[in-house]
Amino acid sequence: MNLIRLIVIALIIYLLIQIVKRWLANKNAQASSQQDKLKNMVRCKVCQLHIPEAEALQRDGDFFCSQEHLNLNSEQD
Ligand SMILES: [Zn+2]
Repeated sequence: MNLIRLIVIALIIYLLIQIVKRWLANKNAQASSQQDKLKNMVRCKVCQLHIPEAEALQRDGDFFCSQEHLNLNSEQD
């Protein structure tokens, strides 16, 4: 009876480790993709200012530093 309990406890611990591992891997993947976006610099189509992709506004594949410049560009079109 004790042996069965031990196996069950071991199994639960094993499953918990697997869940935590998967959760950590997921978290790391998200963090690294966010870092890639921060490292990846793009240029505002209006003023040519370099800004991180994560902070840039995007429309039709073009990047803009601010809502103002995004509006300015769409008015020109
Ligand atoms: Zn700009």
